[in-house]
Amino acid sequence: MRITFCGSGAGAAVNPRRGASSIHLAHGDARMLVDTGPGFMERMADSGLDPDLVGDVVFSHLHFDHAMGVVELFSRLIVRQGRPVTVYGPRDTDMYIEAALGFAQVNATNDFVRTWLEGVSVELTRPGDEREIGGVEVRSVEVPHAPYLECLARRFEAGGRSLVYTGDTTYAPEILVPLADGADVLVHEAYTESCLERMTEGMSESGRAGLLRGVRGTHSRAESAGQVARDAGVGTLVLTHIMPLEQDWELVEEARRAFDGTIVVASDGLSLEV
Ligand SMILES: [Zn+2]
Repeated sequence: MRITFCGSGAGAAVNPRRGASSIHLAHGDARMLVDTGPGFMERMADSGLDPDLVGDVVFSHLHFDHAMGVVELFSRLIVRQGRPVTVYGPRDTDMYIEAALGFAQVNATNDFVRTWLEGVSVELTRPGDEREIGGVEVRSVEVPHAPYLECLARRFEAGGRSLVYTGDTTYAPEILVPLADGADVLVHEAYTESCLERMTEGMSESGRAGLLRGVRGTHSRAESAGQVARDAGVGTLVLTHIMPLEQDWELVEEARRAFDGTIVVASDGLSLEV
């Protein structure tokens, strides 16, 4: 499996250096996108990847910074008469895709559009789901992120190699350590408290409290990601979902407190053979 980051940023703030979350996964002839944050197609182009070849889309959850770009993908594929795709996602993905297809449909009106629309399919991959997608075994578990929203972490396995992607989650070792057990690569979302300090400088007390509560209650510190990597015994830890005021070295330093294996901070265009 080869993964390429087409977006390594967090969605809460616009980040000129990073697109929102999206990972391109290639295995044999299969091409899938794991999350489609808005703007991911520009990042794909930067990496020399072709959106027309994508056969499957796998959502971790439906927050805009992980899913909204699917409208861009559909709009392109309809106009270019690309192949229909299958979308895998948590609860409500069917509603989301119906709406996305509605937006995309405005771009073209001909017989091909109808055929293409009919070819798009949605598979709900609820917690505990195990299936094969494009020759890759995919296991899904629910992680704690936001209220009323089902968020899934995934384990991808092919050819004896394994990749785990947490999506967005708070520190959840009881769920993520078993999922990431012995994985070759763990892609874990991460932030640092130093970044939060920089973000909240000059804010009102209530604004500061709200932002801290929001981030701390829904995301994972880099040190927590390191703890999961250590306890699961993974080979490489990749930190992603990076906020604009983060410093790469601080992310690594924090994760390093717990994990002594290879630590990489994701960047748009980063490509790794798993
Ligand atoms: Zn996010």
